[in-house]
Amino acid sequence: MLLFLYRQRMSSVAQNKVVRFSYTLTDEDGQNIDKGSLSYLHGHRNILPGVERELAGMKVGEQKKFQLSPEEGYGEYDESLLQLVPRTAFPPDVDIQIGMFFEARTAEGVVTFYVRETQGDMVLLDANHPLAGKNLNFDVTIESIREATEEEIAHGHAH
Ligand code: ZN
Repeated sequence: MLLFLYRQRMSSVAQNKVVRFSYTLTDEDGQNIDKGSLSYLHGHRNILPGVERELAGMKVGEQKKFQLSPEEGYGEYDESLLQLVPRTAFPPDVDIQIGMFFEARTAEGVVTFYVRETQGDMVLLDANHPLAGKNLNFDVTIESIREATEEEIAHGHAH
């Protein structure tokens, strides 16, 4: 009797695969930061390198929890990126709210900052990434994996 063995080739997350995964992102106090599902081209720095490293080798349906340090995430918090400006620096019709994002053209290009606090007639702006200085806890599940097309590889992103 002949016995045929089939080894199912389970594809895993690797270079030039288009990967879809769902994720929950929480901070160190367990507060929910973000949640969603994302498709990306693996090995092309489309996502945080630390996340890419953790996803490598995972298979469809697999779940994993891991933590990224601020260094691997959005950087250490830099106090020098705080700036106190008068409210009059903003257009008068703008209702300044904490958490609001603004973009400013500077000598170094476009800088994104957000309103951290309002102090009387002054506004404290923060150009740190909102997640700077935070440990990031990820809970991810791989939803699908496929080969990238030549065009996607040439472009360096998933279509
Ligand atoms: Zn493209």
